[in-house]
Formats: sequence, structure tokens, C-alpha cells
Amino acid sequence: MPVSLIAKRDALGVSPGKLFIDGQWYAWDAQRIEQVHPASNEVMTHFADAGHGGVELAVKAARKAFDEGPWPRMAAQDRRRLLRPIMDGILAAEEELAALQSLDNGIPLSFSRQSRVSPRAAADIFDHFLGWIDKINGETYPQFSGTSNLHYLSFREPVGVVAAILPWNGPIMSFAMKVAPALACGCTVVVKPSEFAGIAVHRLAEIIAQSDLPPGVFNLVTGGAEAGAALSSHPAVDKVTFTGSPEVGEKILQASGANMKRLSLELGGKSAGLVFPDCRDVAGAARSLMGLCSTFLSGQVCTTPSRAVVHRSILDEFIHHAGEQLKQVRFGDPFDPATTSAPIISKRQVARILDLIRSGQQEGAQLLAGGSCPGGDLANGNWINPALLVNVRNDMRIAQEEIFGPVLCVIPFDTEEEAVRIANDSAFGLAGALYTSDISRAFRVARAVRTGSLGVNGFASVPNAPFGGVKRSGVGREGGWAAIEAFTELKTVNFNLDA
Ligand code: NAD
Repeated sequence: MPVSLIAKRDALGVSPGKLFIDGQWYAWDAQRIEQVHPASNEVMTHFADAGHGGVELAVKAARKAFDEGPWPRMAAQDRRRLLRPIMDGILAAEEELAALQSLDNGIPLSFSRQSRVSPRAAADIFDHFLGWIDKINGETYPQFSGTSNLHYLSFREPVGVVAAILPWNGPIMSFAMKVAPALACGCTVVVKPSEFAGIAVHRLAEIIAQSDLPPGVFNLVTGGAEAGAALSSHPAVDKVTFTGSPEVGEKILQASGANMKRLSLELGGKSAGLVFPDCRDVAGAARSLMGLCSTFLSGQVCTTPSRAVVHRSILDEFIHHAGEQLKQVRFGDPFDPATTSAPIISKRQVARILDLIRSGQQEGAQLLAGGSCPGGDLANGNWINPALLVNVRNDMRIAQEEIFGPVLCVIPFDTEEEAVRIANDSAFGLAGALYTSDISRAFRVARAVRTGSLGVNGFASVPNAPFGGVKRSGVGREGGWAAIEAFTELKTVNFNLDA
């Protein structure tokens, strides 16, 4: 039977989305957008399309709450007391939120409940940033000159009105990684989820609406590119924190120039997994790299290691185990515990991925498995059988462009220098992994690869360590103290004790 999400949608009681501005819900009926489910292409709900008008209202409210309200000036303990119920609310709604995320983007429920994009992980992110609130401190400086009686200290102050623009692939986690540190620092926020995944974020906004945050501190606008562009060009917004594609990241960079907005841009990647001949578990590395490209969000994750750079002496073994891993893949209803992999977010993205696979074949790569769309009961969804491409050269399009889909490209190498050169021969620099049992090699290669993060014998990001990209993968860092710096400005104050 073809996959249908209608019964699940109705059981979860999903209703049409509204805007949340200045402590009020707005139906905004004049302009609506549809959200469809990628596993079935059925309409899940409608959202308000905020456009310029909705953004204007929300930014005005956030500006007023920042300039005139108590939030930025509140004592640390009081701010933490107001934020803690939001974390508790996320935990209380954990199961519902996980289900809503699967209704958003088709992520299998098992991953939505338990992985690093889960509601529990989001609550942990809030917990982490709540802990910073009374530690956001400036510095004092030693007297510089003996000829004056000037004494200096610095304060770390909230950056102001923050526009948080989210992607569709991990909406709950992206929300937490932006909203939690922004609020912890005393900023006011306007959040815009992706037009492809607004349901779980709308529920998170309902949780915040039930808290005692002062009006205007948190605002939700929904919509697509128009609302996003209106936010990133708005003169009353002080900072944009964005996760999404490099193409939109470039537009935001340009739009935000007029008033010199502060920017955090978490963009795309083309991460490499380097597998050295001294790797202790070639089968494990192959399963892990192919697994990340074929299960979970089906490679639609910014850190996906879509290039497996493998030493020639272990190439056959690696390819064999990568092929074996593909046998684990099961498509279907995201609420079925047997389903391992998410559908592709849109038909447009399916066409783009298939085109990239074809370009790889035309340039001489060999397609060992997948690369086709399943028919039958799955024909109404956006599925691609995960592709394993071998004999890939790093100058091929498929090795240079972000695929954001279920494709692993295997690129052979002979020397460590060549492996590092291949990893670095990319416009991107987000993440990566290297597999070796030689600690000296691990240290050397980890330092030589130009990325924001790198995993030795496995990769994962955590909320208390910096995460972000170099080159076309973005600007700035999220996580830990780096995020606190990104949502604050330093103000230096001097006292003239001779006056
Ligand atoms: P996208 O860039 O298409 O959309 C992201 C958001 O930007 C959406 O909310 C969208 O409505 C909005 N937007 C669209 N046009 C805009 C404009 N002109 N101005 C302002 N906002 C605009 O990205 P996506 O398809 O949602 O997500 C996939 C991309 O996100 C991939 O490239 C992926 O690598 C990247 N990503 C990066 C990270 C990271 O942490 N580095 C994490 C997840 C996803």
C-alpha cells in the first residue's frame, strides 16, 4: 500500500500555522503556503506566508522588546528562571515533537526521537545555554599608562534583535542552537522556519508562548524566500543567524551589508572521510560512511561525508562493506520502526541528485549500486535508492558540488599527502573524518585538513564545542562559548579617576 501520512497528521491534530508576534497569535489568512510530505506528496498543513508585512510587525515587536523591555537588562538568575520552563516544556512534549518532525521532513521516527536532531537533544542544548547565563562576563584590564588615572573594563552585552532563519533538515535542533543562546544572552528573536518544515517549530513556538517571556522577546514568522529576504535586509535587525545553502547564504551576506549586521552562517559541505591503510576496522569505516549517506536523513545533512577517500590497498574491502551496508536500507512510512531512511525533501531536489549521479557516470565514475527511484508503493514519494559510485576523481562535478542526498563517492589515494590534498581540494570546509590507528598520523592529518570540525575514527558534533565552517561552508561558530560570543558585543568602559 502506498505511504500515506494523512491519518497520522489527523491523529497528531496538526492545525494551520499562525504567526506569533509580540505575545499574540495572528491567523494571517490572506496569504498561505502549503507544506507537503516528501514520502507521499500529500498536503500536511498550511502556513501563514508572512511576507514583508508580517516581518515588519515581528521586527518592530522584537526591536521594542529589546530597546525598551526588561529582557536585555534582566539579572542572570531571573532570565534563567524564565527560560527553564521552555526546556521543561520541550521535554514534556518530547514524543509529540519527535512525531511532528517526522511529519515535517520524513525523518524516520526512531531517529527523530533519539539522534542529535531529537527534541531531547534540543532540551540538552537549552540546558547547556541556560548554564552560561550567569557566566557571560567581560574583563578588567591592568592600568596601561602611569601618566593617567584611567581604568578600563569591558561588558559583554546582547547583540540586539536576532533573525534566526532555519533549514528543513533538523528543524528542532537548528531552532535550539539559535534560539537558546540568543535568549540566554538577552537578545530578542524573530525565528523563521523553512517552508518545507514548519510544523515542529510551530509547536516549539506554542511552548514558548505558554512561558512567561515578556511580549516581543520571541516571535515566529513563517514563509519562504520573501520573508527570509525581508528579515535579512531589515535595518532594525542587528544579527542574522542562518543555517542553509551557500547560495542563500551569499544573498544574506549581501542583504545584511547595509546596516553591517552581525552574521553567523552555517552553510553546506562536501566533507571527506579519509580511510588510511592502518585503519583498525575498514568494515566499520565503510559501514559508517555509507550509513551516513543512506540512512537517517539519507545524506541530507550538512556534515555528510559524501567523499570516501580510501587508500588503494584497502579499496576492494571498503567497497565490499559499503555495498553490504546498503542492504540495511528500508524505505517507507517514517512512523514504521523498520524504516531506516528519509525521503528526499522535494521533487526538484530528486532531479538535481539524479542529474549529479548521471554527470559522475558521464565523467567516468562507475555506479555500483542505486541511483534510481523505486516504483510501486513508493512511487508517490521522493525516494532515491542510495548510490555507491567508485572510480571517482576529485575534479568531477559529483566530487565538487554538495549533493545533499544519498550518494557516496569513493576516491582512491596512494599517499597521505595525496589524501590531504584531495580533502582540501574543495570549495567547502565544514567537517570530515579520518580513520587510522596511528596517533601521529591522526594528529598530522587532523591539523592539515582545512575544515571547521574533524572526527578521528568517527564524527559527531555536540552543543558545548564550536561547530561551523571555513571557506564556502560559512562564517562563525555555533556551540559553547563561541555561540555566546556570537550573540554578544563587547563594550569597553573607562573610568577617569582624576576627574
Ligand atoms: P535553503 O538555503 O534553501 O533554505 C534555508 C532557509 O533560508 C529557509 O528558511 C528559506 O526559506 C530561507 N531563504 C530562502 N531564500 C532566502 C533569501 N533570499 N533570504 C533569506 N532567507 C532565505 O536551505 P535548505 O534546503 O533548507 O537546507 C539545506 C542546506 O542547508 C544545505 O546546503 C545544507 O548543507 C545546509 N545546512 C547546513 C548546516 C550547518 O550547520 N552548516 C546544517 C543543516 C543544513
